Amino acid sequence: MGTARIAVVGTGYVGLTTGACLAALGHRVTCVDVDEVKVARLSAGRVDILEPGLPELVVEGLAAGRLSFVVGARAAVANAEGVFLCVPTPMGAGGGADLRAVEAVVAEVGDALPAGCAVITKSTVPVGTAERIAGLLDRDDVAVVANPEFLREGSAVADFLGPDRIVVGSADPAAARWVAGLYRDLGAPTVLTDAASAELVKYAANCFLAMKLSYVNAVAELCERLGADVAAVTEGMGHDRRIGRTFLAPGPGWGGSCLPKDTSALLRIAESVGFDFGLLSATVAENIAQRDRVIAKIAAAAGGSLAGTRIGLLGLAFKAGTNDLRDSPALSVASVLCAHGAVVTAHDPAVAEPLPGMAVVGDPYRVAERADVVVVLTEWPEFAALDWAAMAARMAGDTVVDTRNLLDPDTVLAAGLSWTGVGRPRQR
Ligand code: NAD
Repeated sequence: MGTARIAVVGTGYVGLTTGACLAALGHRVTCVDVDEVKVARLSAGRVDILEPGLPELVVEGLAAGRLSFVVGARAAVANAEGVFLCVPTPMGAGGGADLRAVEAVVAEVGDALPAGCAVITKSTVPVGTAERIAGLLDRDDVAVVANPEFLREGSAVADFLGPDRIVVGSADPAAARWVAGLYRDLGAPTVLTDAASAELVKYAANCFLAMKLSYVNAVAELCERLGADVAAVTEGMGHDRRIGRTFLAPGPGWGGSCLPKDTSALLRIAESVGFDFGLLSATVAENIAQRDRVIAKIAAAAGGSLAGTRIGLLGLAFKAGTNDLRDSPALSVASVLCAHGAVVTAHDPAVAEPLPGMAVVGDPYRVAERADVVVVLTEWPEFAALDWAAMAARMAGDTVVDTRNLLDPDTVLAAGLSWTGVGRPRQR
């Protein structure tokens, strides 16, 4: 395929990465957003999300004239061969995916789409959405294609340009092949299928990852009760290629902008066809239990009660390498600590904004200031490299709760502190 004319609606993690990377692959891309400030900043080459390589690709695309940013989808789609929908699909009131943004875009662009064009869902959308969009469009000359995105925040560009697979599904096989062709240069395995299957791949994959994390968190709890070490257990499991080593680290519970809403949405999807997906409900319940066990561990470290206790938190983002706070387990832990009357000071290398109920500081050593307990909540490597003797000197108490098993316990011990991880023997 030569150069294609593409419109990308929504310039968040997925849309901006899609637009910038498709431009880098040689296509001509117009990105659309409703956020005028964002569009103005992006047009000037300013990227506000933390994604390695993305600002460079945006600047390159702008300079090459292959990438532009506009407000207003109708004009952007008028000349497009493919229109990618990359708008949010957050958790709705009933727990299912809220499709209002997707439907708003479809209503906005419906009669402006040129004949022969493909509308492509990259947003994570419930099974049946492609068919629903086709019904809303009611156009025989426009194809609807499901092409879910699997990139991870923090490595979005590398994931987009080096995907494990491309999944494309449509009732119109020619349109599906055309969309797959946009990625041909990436050389990734490609699954061409119907729209419903493509839509389900995304939920089935994300929910499997959530299940793996809930499973390992439960195994970590068993380790604590049985006197085993989860580090050795997961190492022993991970060498098994059927299991694999990734998504096998216990933590404070899984979160982020995708797993919570996608597990909830798949439960609603299953319910809608009368299937009791007990395994997935248990996955979600285990995640809440894990968060509660972490809170209990922090309370125990504080001497039993959280009221009036000074807690220093290292990490707010839902994982290292991103400044995304959406549904972050670290924030969830922080808000429960605050609700129990703890005095919370937090630091995250990628977060400077003020947050309700706590002090957010730019210097990691300030979280230790008079702290009764210091808690690691996000696996930023820089926390392991802190001077733990200097941390200890500032603390009032002597306990570090490491919910990511990130720190070297010996280093913490050498600083005169005790170390409590997850699923590992306590060191004091
Ligand atoms: P985001 O919130 O970062 O970005 C969405 C963008 O869409 C925002 O810039 C917003 O202003 C814009 N927008 C909203 N309504 C619009 C409209 N009517 N017209 C034009 N623009 C509009 O969201 P995201 O994280 O990029 O996620 C988008 C979709 O991709 C979701 O369905 C999500 O589940 C899915 N997804 C996300 C990731 C991820 O890691 N973030 C990975 C894979 C899939």
